Amino acid sequence: MKYISTRGQAPALSFEEAMLSGLARDGGLYVPDSVPQMSAADIRALHGQSYEEVAFRVMRPFIGDGFTDEVFADLIAKAYAGFGHGARAPLVQLAPGHFLLELFHGPTLAFKDFAMQLIGQLFEEALTRRGERVTIVGATSGDTGSAAIEAFRGLDAVDVFILYPHGRVSEVQRRQMTTPVESNVHAIAMDGHFDDCQARLKDMFNDFEFRDGVRLAGVNSINWARVLAQVVYYFSSAVSLGAPDRRVSFTVPTGNFGDIFAGYIAKRMGLPIDRLVVATNQNDILHRCLSSGGYVTDTVTPSISPSMDIQVSSNFERALFDAYGRDGNAVGQLMAELKAGGFTVSQGALQALREHFDSGRASEDETLATIRAAQAGMGELLCPHSAVGVHVAEAQRDPAVPMITLATAHPAKFPDAVEKASGIRPPLPQRMADLYERPERVTRAPNDLAALKTLIQERIPS
Ligand SMILES: *Cc1c(COP(=O)(O)O)cnc(C)c1O
Repeated sequence: MKYISTRGQAPALSFEEAMLSGLARDGGLYVPDSVPQMSAADIRALHGQSYEEVAFRVMRPFIGDGFTDEVFADLIAKAYAGFGHGARAPLVQLAPGHFLLELFHGPTLAFKDFAMQLIGQLFEEALTRRGERVTIVGATSGDTGSAAIEAFRGLDAVDVFILYPHGRVSEVQRRQMTTPVESNVHAIAMDGHFDDCQARLKDMFNDFEFRDGVRLAGVNSINWARVLAQVVYYFSSAVSLGAPDRRVSFTVPTGNFGDIFAGYIAKRMGLPIDRLVVATNQNDILHRCLSSGGYVTDTVTPSISPSMDIQVSSNFERALFDAYGRDGNAVGQLMAELKAGGFTVSQGALQALREHFDSGRASEDETLATIRAAQAGMGELLCPHSAVGVHVAEAQRDPAVPMITLATAHPAKFPDAVEKASGIRPPLPQRMADLYERPERVTRAPNDLAALKTLIQERIPS
């Protein structure tokens, strides 16, 4: 299987090459040139299998021959061994026909561990085999960074630099990034918003001299391997509710469109998904775009669900690529217009998007009210991101089709908002209870490309 760029101007790559490079050289994102199919019988055969076995069967056709079956199965086993729940992604019932998929039992308590723990294993294996070393630079609104650091800390073949917006991540998120002691871990508190961090990251990738000089690799949600790892839990959860013989819908709290795009891939592979509902907070560019076709960036308004405080949704480009009939030139044109402030999705493409996706938003008050109601009614403590999802799911739910809402983080990762809403301050799980006592190590940096490049060059072994 080959991977092609959404802008149509970069060479096609293998899975391993696409994973190691992250962003395509024409600025686009890699997508598979075709989507492998799972038949109803293949899906039925997933019943009763472990999460790891489902992961192997769902991802195997995308991986190619870089990894043998034995090696790939072994990497999956290692990736999920550190999770605090035997089911990895347990499903709990919230209400009749409404289920919560708990994706927060990994080492950093957010769903990003599902992809990042696997990517850490895949990178280490591939780089060791090739005798290479890379510099990973990531931008984070909080959870990606901690998940990446947790996945790559202490590895020999990798330095990991994480840019996060100074003062705009929660204390738990910050401490998860600044307390690891391994010398290959570099937390950088940058001036600005998440979108600024993401823009500087893109600048570094588009600076080919720098990119090649430090052997830059990206593990942001634009990395195809991350999307792929997230496809798995759509299968495991739908199967446990009766797929392929019963259809399900999903509501996904999202900003960068990564997690919900994985659901779309699951659907394209043959999983009978009815609706994929995009749930945004007050930074609702995706909801506005799916409602009106206008994709116009606004200023980011900080919210209590900070991991979705985004105005430029990188993975949306992958959905646009399909909606425009895989026309890389059309996507390139839209992205050029975006640089000048925004674009309008054509009627045909909007129609194509709406065949799969619905959308809704939750205000700050609605998010708090949902946390309060879920706690009072069901004894379920939701993190603010998951609460955005539950609010939108309740508003949009078709009673005839079971709804699965993705719970993307553990409530203890956002204790202030949860306490404000419910009066309960959720404790950290036992295994990370000393997080508040560990010393922190962080570098402050300006929102400036040259300064960031120098900082990275000085830190890596030459
Ligand atoms: C990253 C994150 C999201 C948004 O994920 P996307 O990649 O934007 O789909 C939602 N909730 C939490 C807790 C996150 O960490």
